[in-house]
Amino acid sequence: MTPVAKTELLMSLPSDQDASGRTFDETEIAYVTEVLKSGTLTTTKGKFGKMLEQKFAEKLGAKFAYACTSGSAAIHIAVAAINPEPGDEIITTSITDMGALTPLMYRGVVPVFAEVDPKTLNVTAETIEKKISERTKAIIVTHLFGNPCEMGPIMELAREKGIPVIEDSAQTFLAKKGDAFAGTIGDIGCFSLQQGKHMTTGEGGMVVTNDEKLARKMFLYINKAWGYGDANPDHYFMALNYRMSELQAAVALGQLEKLETCVANRQNTAALLTELLQGIDGIETPVIAPDATHTYWKYCLSVDDSKIEGGSVGMAQLLKEKNIFSAPRYIVKPAFMCQVFQEKNTLGTSQFPFNLAREGAVDYEMENYPLTAKALHDVLVLPWNEKYTEEHVRYIADNVRIAASRLRK
Ligand SMILES: *Cc1c(COP(=O)(O)O)cnc(C)c1O
Repeated sequence: MTPVAKTELLMSLPSDQDASGRTFDETEIAYVTEVLKSGTLTTTKGKFGKMLEQKFAEKLGAKFAYACTSGSAAIHIAVAAINPEPGDEIITTSITDMGALTPLMYRGVVPVFAEVDPKTLNVTAETIEKKISERTKAIIVTHLFGNPCEMGPIMELAREKGIPVIEDSAQTFLAKKGDAFAGTIGDIGCFSLQQGKHMTTGEGGMVVTNDEKLARKMFLYINKAWGYGDANPDHYFMALNYRMSELQAAVALGQLEKLETCVANRQNTAALLTELLQGIDGIETPVIAPDATHTYWKYCLSVDDSKIEGGSVGMAQLLKEKNIFSAPRYIVKPAFMCQVFQEKNTLGTSQFPFNLAREGAVDYEMENYPLTAKALHDVLVLPWNEKYTEEHVRYIADNVRIAASRLRK
């Protein structure tokens, strides 16, 4: 009998949805136990929320950090701090999570979508500039998959126009752009601590800023705008309770202590995959700016369907047979093609905030976004996490190579 070739074996890859791909250990258990034994589960009284905020700010080199309940909440808090008028506009990206868009509409903001660079799937100064109007109150840039946007030109444009920048860094922890970490370059940075992100507490989020006024507003927005510690506290404005609990903060603190190791593992294994995948005609590995580091929330390939039959979808089907569950075309359609936007299903039958929009602000037609269509058509998102080893990476590389040659046109 001929021995079974290595590539015919089925390997099971670590998953960030369970212990196989996550890093919880005695540290988190000890911290959570301490919280429970203390009997104080609210961060208004406990120490873990405060420690998490302080250490998170320190790690990123930001002046202020606040914990909250989710990445969506983080975006809501950031937009609330900017306090746009109903019907105002915020420019964001055509490729993002719904959690980065719904908070805009709750604040009465009309999302205006900028195109992406098909090579990185990130917005650029050029694509943003085309969408600026007299009602643009902020720009949200999303560092997709762990790969920072070209922030230099974006910040130049924003400063010139006097428009604040919110960085959605939910997928990008500890990625550097020049000397600064993604999330600390604009006016506010938003992070998600959801199950599948670089560090997690199941559901959670963080906001960071160097601006004292924005910091104050964000703190208040997380706390029903109650002036904790003030001489004559009151509920100053309309705001929710977006506080993280001490239990979540305890887990997040443990995770934060491992963040550098986790990021380094993701980068090292990703570098190996990039090396192993060189020279496959029709497959491109991630494009990173010269002065940036990528921290690989996911590892994306670009698949050219003029060279590979079925493109990213064809590749994904073959990889699935090998237990490699990739996402061809990522979110498949841009957020603005979802029902909530197409049917304007918001508050009652009002179609708020679209009913207040400037003429021409609402542009949710696929045909107007050719670069986004191209980006989504070609992208193949490989799952990734800090538990990948050289063996996993070689298994993925071998199978990508085999799939590409089976589908060669
Ligand atoms: C995950 C994610 C969010 C939302 O975070 P949640 O914690 O799920 O609310 C926002 N933006 C981006 C880019 C994300 O990946």
